Amino acid sequence: MTTVLGCIADDFTGATDLAGLLARSGVKVSLRMGVPDSAPSDTAPFEVIALKIRTVPADQAVEQALKALDWLKAAGAERFFWKYCSTFDSTPQGNIGPVAEALMAALGTDQTIYCPAFPENGRAIFMGTLFVGQTPLAESPMKDHPLTPMRDSNLMRLLQPQVTRPVGLADRLTVAKGPDALRAELDRLAAEGTAHVVVDAVADADLTTIAAACRDMPLMTGGSAVAMPLPALFAADGLLAADAPGLETPKLGKGAVILSGSCSAMTNKQVATYKATGRPAFQLDPLSLANDGHAAAVDWLAAQDLSKAPLIYATAEPTSVRAAQDKLGVQRAGEIVEQALAACAIAARDAGAQRFVVAGGETSGAVTQALGVDRLDIGAEIAPGVPWCFATSDGTPIALTLKSGNFGAERFFTDALDKLEGA
Ligand code: ADP
Repeated sequence: MTTVLGCIADDFTGATDLAGLLARSGVKVSLRMGVPDSAPSDTAPFEVIALKIRTVPADQAVEQALKALDWLKAAGAERFFWKYCSTFDSTPQGNIGPVAEALMAALGTDQTIYCPAFPENGRAIFMGTLFVGQTPLAESPMKDHPLTPMRDSNLMRLLQPQVTRPVGLADRLTVAKGPDALRAELDRLAAEGTAHVVVDAVADADLTTIAAACRDMPLMTGGSAVAMPLPALFAADGLLAADAPGLETPKLGKGAVILSGSCSAMTNKQVATYKATGRPAFQLDPLSLANDGHAAAVDWLAAQDLSKAPLIYATAEPTSVRAAQDKLGVQRAGEIVEQALAACAIAARDAGAQRFVVAGGETSGAVTQALGVDRLDIGAEIAPGVPWCFATSDGTPIALTLKSGNFGAERFFTDALDKLEGA
């Protein structure tokens, strides 16, 4: 199936977020972990390549993004989307601007738009100022982000040092007039030589206007939300075959496992809620793992009935996380937990588990890598931004859901399992 939209995301959970929103339309979306080594085959109408380039040096980000672009072009895409964080996470050196300019040059286009707005998650842009809820970006907790502290809320000022060509704004007053007015404004700005246009959006209807006006641009850039209306627009334009493949849920065995390495407040609640249902659960202790390895966890798992969806968790309250970190170091504590959960994932798969619920962004990376998953087909959404995904691990079809930090409600683990009932 020819790819209609090729997407490049600057990190892994951003890629799943985008893929999940596109899949809400019912169209098939594939997510690739990194640029595939082989030429495109069995491609979906919407392809998302997850890179890890948010904070790498700009020249490396550009190189990887261009490699991703080549792969997506080979998949047949003629329209492309550059996805970054809805809080515009970047430094004056990049990488949002440099990647956008490199993609524009490679595509031979003189203009693109920037719209990180995500109203459903409280990200809005008005007069070029990005708000997190009711707070300007630079007054939000993002001002203290360890890698990309955001100390200005004005997207034009944030973007200008990252690019070589002029930056402008299409404001809310124009967007409110509809797609034709916005298109005319973009053309006017293009005639003036404005290559990079920040576009205001405060509500979902604005995103629909923007997507409608910009859907034929070779390159759009933004958060995930502005891409959400694209599948329906492309379908209306006849770009998606009437028989375009939709979501497919493969037949799966009943065996399931829940692997939780996130220590967020919500994941702590989710673990407690799941344990309260009386399902089997095993707690990983970083200090025991450091001393004795993960054999005890793997042995425990081997004795479980996988149809009861046993839970293995390192999830703990902040005080006990800090205690482990003080003894082992932050990095080492994280790594040994990730390695243990990765080993449990492999053991569960080898014992017949085909349903994997994983909590934690880094944990998800470790588990997917251990399972040798390099492609995920996006399925039904369990909670906003958290879909079930389908993949193959060692020749066996599996379902995976990868939940980062605070996503999902307290019953997320059972919600996830229930959603796959019947598969
Ligand atoms: P989140 O999405 O909530 O940030 P991540 O998986 O990205 O979750 O990060 C959690 C990190 O904490 C992982 O590296 C994990 O291995 C580590 N970790 C999990 N449990 C513990 C624990 N009890 N003590 C110390 N570190 C832990």
